Amino acid sequence: MASPVSAALQFLRDRLPGRVITPDADTSAPASASAADFTTLTNQPWSSTCWQAPAAYILPESSSEVATALSILKQSGIKFVVRSTGHNPNPGFSSIGDEGVVIDLAKLQRREIVEVNEVTAAESGIGCGNGKIARVGAGNRWGVVYDWLEKQGLSAIGGRDPGVGMGLLVGGGLGAVPNLHGVPSNGLRGVEIVLSDGRIVNANADENADLYRALKGGGSNFGIITRFDLATHPLIPLQYSITLYSPSDYTNINRATVQLQEDMESEPRIGTFTNFNSAFVAVGFITAGDSASSSQVESEGGSGTVTEAFKPFESLDSKMMDACPTTNGTLGSLAKVMAHAAGDEKKKYVRTLTTTPSADLYNDAYNAWRAALDTIPKDAVLHYTIQPVGSTCVREAEKAGGNILGLKAVAQCWWVFTIEWPRESTPEDDAAARNAVTCLVEKVRNAAKSRDHLLPYLCATFASSDQGVLSSYGAQNIEIMKAVSRKYDPDGVFQSQQYGGFLLRDLE
Ligand SMILES: Cc1cc2nc3c(=O)[nH]c(=O)nc-3n(C[C@H](O)[C@H](O)[C@H](O)COP(=O)(O)OP(=O)(O)OC[C@H]3O[C@@H](n4cnc5c(N)ncnc54)[C@H](O)[C@@H]3O)c2cc1C
Repeated sequence: MASPVSAALQFLRDRLPGRVITPDADTSAPASASAADFTTLTNQPWSSTCWQAPAAYILPESSSEVATALSILKQSGIKFVVRSTGHNPNPGFSSIGDEGVVIDLAKLQRREIVEVNEVTAAESGIGCGNGKIARVGAGNRWGVVYDWLEKQGLSAIGGRDPGVGMGLLVGGGLGAVPNLHGVPSNGLRGVEIVLSDGRIVNANADENADLYRALKGGGSNFGIITRFDLATHPLIPLQYSITLYSPSDYTNINRATVQLQEDMESEPRIGTFTNFNSAFVAVGFITAGDSASSSQVESEGGSGTVTEAFKPFESLDSKMMDACPTTNGTLGSLAKVMAHAAGDEKKKYVRTLTTTPSADLYNDAYNAWRAALDTIPKDAVLHYTIQPVGSTCVREAEKAGGNILGLKAVAQCWWVFTIEWPRESTPEDDAAARNAVTCLVEKVRNAAKSRDHLLPYLCATFASSDQGVLSSYGAQNIEIMKAVSRKYDPDGVFQSQQYGGFLLRDLE
């Protein structure tokens, strides 16, 4: 008798010919699915800890094909995961072993601009009001979306790496200039989503508004999003540079970072990051220009507050070099500068934490990191990034109809701690690598707590699977998400059959 998985695969092949790719090369498929495709898809995730071979990949080419796949999987009861581009490093989120299948949305590549009533756009408070919405299929990557929009004189708020996909929006996300228009998911004007009963519905401020709100950070708990409707803005010009400093100057670098964060509170056009590596500290200086006139930053003339804000760094004599000289560009060109190298086979593990800014805390973190470096396996690289987010980011989100993240409107830092180590590692090395980050984050967390700088929020896009991301949104938001899940997924398909993710089922 055929196993439930192979029976479901046969059913999927019959209903979706050419869309199912299995390890043994599905020769019945007219679209030449091959073993090579299978291996490419398996080795696609950013972290090789997620290079798991599933029973099959399903690559639907339309929302109705997503609905067909989902209804077959629901009937068969087999496990599945949804993949956008597989940049999430948690195994089991957008990867799965041979007990289940990956629904890979890569073929949902549609992109179109739709005009909406300008009054409605302005009233919705999204902050665009230019009446143009970018409808992008769930298989798009940010680099493609930026290039496409910029050719039309438009920008949308997304991630900082061109290869990352729309999955970023599912977890709230963080953009290059967070205080300008809020977190990326707040730029969502709506979505098209496939529900577990096979319906394809819109969720936006007017239709299924409760679902729309929960989707702004609530993850993959409610359905499979097939189209993201993004608010657009007249092209946002950026000026940016990345400078490397010597890590030995960490106290001054940390002090300058905190000063810059203070200035960000009154100047929402600034974005920055401070990334600590063994050999250098990379600091990003990003300024958004006047979107309405598309004028470059330097031609604004104004009060000069932006350049003033970067002054604390200019006086540091630990500068090593400019990794990226001052450049006039766009979100798209900055993303290209920040792109991660392709073809990297390393294993990766990330953890996050949110605190308010404090130079003393940042120094504690540096010292904890130096100590952690002694515990990492051979050839591993452990680095961390201070990612400043201002109170304006949170207020922008509120203006745009709120979200489910439970953020406090204060200046804060979304930390990300990352370890990368060779793929050919022993289980002991794997454990040591993860343990180094876990202990480091715990030390920083304890320091933040004792200094009264700890905030509850944990950003899903930088979190490890065991971090209580949904709990960090607060009791009220959890209740909202649970109610939305009961209403739109009454059979609990996304809780019981979805293999991994930040899921409501994991809440106590
Ligand atoms: C090099 C690099 C740069 C990054 N830069 C940023 C950044 O600037 N800002 C930031 O916030 N994050 C950033 N991230 C983190 C990244 O946003 C997260 O890892 C995100 O989860 C990956 O998005 P993805 O599109 O690859 O999604 P995937 O890894 O494919 O999926 C992530 C999760 O979302 C779910 N999901 C994906 N698409 C859908 C959908 N359409 N419907 C329902 N569920 C879905 C998946 O099931 C999975 O649980 C970066 C990561 C890397 C590796």
